[in-house]
Amino acid sequence: MTFEEWVQSRLTAHGYPCGPIDGIFGPATRAALKHFQAAHQLDTSGVGDAATVLALRKPSSRVPVEEKQFIPDRDRDGPDDGRRSVWPRQRDVPQFFGPVGRNQTRLEVPWDMVLAWKTDISIRTITVHEKVAASAERAFHRIRGIYSTREIKALGLHLFGGSLNVRRMRGGSRYSMHSWGIAIDFDPARNRLSWKRPRARLSRDDAVPFFQAFEAEGWLSLGRARNFDWMHVQAARL
Ligand SMILES: [Zn+2]
Repeated sequence: MTFEEWVQSRLTAHGYPCGPIDGIFGPATRAALKHFQAAHQLDTSGVGDAATVLALRKPSSRVPVEEKQFIPDRDRDGPDDGRRSVWPRQRDVPQFFGPVGRNQTRLEVPWDMVLAWKTDISIRTITVHEKVAASAERAFHRIRGIYSTREIKALGLHLFGGSLNVRRMRGGSRYSMHSWGIAIDFDPARNRLSWKRPRARLSRDDAVPFFQAFEAEGWLSLGRARNFDWMHVQAARL
């Protein structure tokens, strides 16, 4: 991550969204930076000076403003860093990933997780398909680098809602993406399947860097794409 990307990630985490986290200091980023600086009684220089960096590094205290929803720009997905994966469409998943429940591996999460529905059980590793493990690991480390432990908890990213789970889709005969270990759920209680913006916790501005870390690896958020199931990210396209 470049310094510019870090500044954009932190601005977004603080509730000052600046559009795609692409490392480009355009008008949107400068405007967000000036707003942040003004709110923190700093010189509104619009550049990432030492005092601003210090303030950006502190955990976010601002409750995200719901009216300032970040609208993903579909034409600009951020820079291609050369390792972005293209995952199959959902209908091609069986062909690409093979039989359900097979070829799984365990992945270490770089922060303390607990089982969402039984929080006295800590989760050290999660089970995912071998083909997606490296990409998920990079996304997790990128997220760890953006958010403080307090912010991870505020977002509910420590509440593991499941990955591998061989089951049929609700009300259908097709298998859920979880059946291949290519989907991960976070904080299901505050992101129920049918909940939309701004009710779902992960639909708020401060979660944008979390989703962008997965999207940089070609993963998809049903929340960001379809405004439901905000708990869920998957390594398959619609
Ligand atoms: Zn899910």
